[in-house]
Amino acid sequence: MTSEKDEMDTSPAALDVLVVGAGISGLASAFGLVRKGFQVEVLEAAGKPGGVIGTVNRDGALYETGPNSALDTTPLIGELIEAAGIAAERLPASEISNTRFVVRDGRPIALPMSPGAFLATPLFSPLAKARLALEPFIRRQPLDQEEAIAHFVRRRLGREFLDYAIEPFVAGIYAGDPDRLSVPAAFPKLHALEQRYGSLIVGAILGARERKKRAEKAKNTAKSFSFRGGMQTLTDALARGIGRVTLGARVVSLSRLSDGSFVVVYDLDGETITRHARSVVLSVPASEAARLAYPLAPDATRALQEILYPPVTVVATAYRREDVTHDLGGFGFLAPRVEGRAVLGTLFSSSMFEGRAPAGQVLLTNFVGGRRNPELAAADDEVIVGKVAAEHRALLGARAPALWNVVTRWPRAIPQYELGHLGRVAKVTEAEKAVPGLKFCANYRGGVSVGDCIANAHATAESLGAWLRAPVTARVS
Ligand SMILES: Cc1cc2nc3c(=O)[nH]c(=O)nc-3n(C[C@H](O)[C@H](O)[C@H](O)COP(=O)(O)OP(=O)(O)OC[C@H]3O[C@@H](n4cnc5c(N)ncnc54)[C@H](O)[C@@H]3O)c2cc1C
Repeated sequence: MTSEKDEMDTSPAALDVLVVGAGISGLASAFGLVRKGFQVEVLEAAGKPGGVIGTVNRDGALYETGPNSALDTTPLIGELIEAAGIAAERLPASEISNTRFVVRDGRPIALPMSPGAFLATPLFSPLAKARLALEPFIRRQPLDQEEAIAHFVRRRLGREFLDYAIEPFVAGIYAGDPDRLSVPAAFPKLHALEQRYGSLIVGAILGARERKKRAEKAKNTAKSFSFRGGMQTLTDALARGIGRVTLGARVVSLSRLSDGSFVVVYDLDGETITRHARSVVLSVPASEAARLAYPLAPDATRALQEILYPPVTVVATAYRREDVTHDLGGFGFLAPRVEGRAVLGTLFSSSMFEGRAPAGQVLLTNFVGGRRNPELAAADDEVIVGKVAAEHRALLGARAPALWNVVTRWPRAIPQYELGHLGRVAKVTEAEKAVPGLKFCANYRGGVSVGDCIANAHATAESLGAWLRAPVTARVS
């Protein structure tokens, strides 16, 4: 990793690839391209690599400021971890964290994990359970009619499943609004199940067999994992493997020379530096990608500007074990919108992974805001911490103040794949075709999870690598 200023670079295309942004998308793309033998440099505005991934040690505890875990949904994740040399650091989530709670009527209720538990659970009424039997007989939505996830779930599964199963998960993944999130864009697998099998229930059964053949896992069966040193272990290892990651480098403009190569201008410690590269990967949030791509792809810029990122505030909280009545035997709880709680959800971080809190203490990670409650995400620290503490008293039986709280703010946290999103992404794809050598690889496209970002980065490295190797006359985007 360097933070040194480079000399003014005047050669037409000194580098094969300049990657802008060192979140997991940019780092995994760059790492893949380095492994293919290309000259790659990453420019990152912040003082550390990782983007929203960040791990902090405090008073013997270890908390995450962004993602707490990733789901092992594709073999590409394991391959990347192996190649980065950190397979031994990988830490599976505890067995106990297979239990997930959803708040209903003011108390956390374990999500049923078996047909018997489903029949017995108080999370859904007998009527809601009986309603499921209709699901295989409900007609599929015409392919050309984009639907919001709330409408989709009400139509196929009924209102209670929206309120107590899907809506809280939508809040947990996207911090999003189910009335606006697009089924084909945000939940492509659900969309495909309905289109292919005409039923989610039939599709889930048949789809599991097909995934087994492809060695892929469904998100509801894939295992959660982190690393002994937290999620930042992954992004730090990728940055080390890449070698050339310039921190504190905010890219301010992007242009193209007549030979098709790119000129990237960035600020570093108040100095303006120019770099040339044969290709550029933009791995920055959509608004930044829009700004940088404007001179080259104005249509994509307009589409990118429409992608909304609501704020999320994360509160890490430590308690003495004996001060929390709940046994914290699970992954955490999600709070449905209809329950009117202040938090979107709380992870039982020290139950999920060993080594997250010192002996005799527990660590909770709380999420506030999102599309549901952006005002609260922007409130003062004391207000947010006070509301989180009230939820701990009400839902977890906390009977003494926390030992400490740390607030982390993400004013633009997670891109929303709302209605019309696929059209916006199509504009970005068109821009890649119109400007050969320019790639857009970030979490506003192809999925927001860490695993999705890794899969997208892999695809970016593959296609850009092939393009860079192709003879000049044969190159298409
Ligand atoms: C609070 C939170 C919790 C989450 N929890 C989970 C979870 O538990 N599991 C999971 O799978 N996913 C989770 N996610 C989602 C997942 O972490 C993100 O979608 C993913 O990490 C985003 O990676 P990225 O590289 O696409 O973007 P980012 O991480 O946003 O990286 C973009 C980078 O670009 C840099 N940048 C911006 N502008 C410039 C510029 N002009 N010049 C240079 N650099 C620039 C930024 O500084 C940043 O480092 C969570 C996200 C958040 C915010």
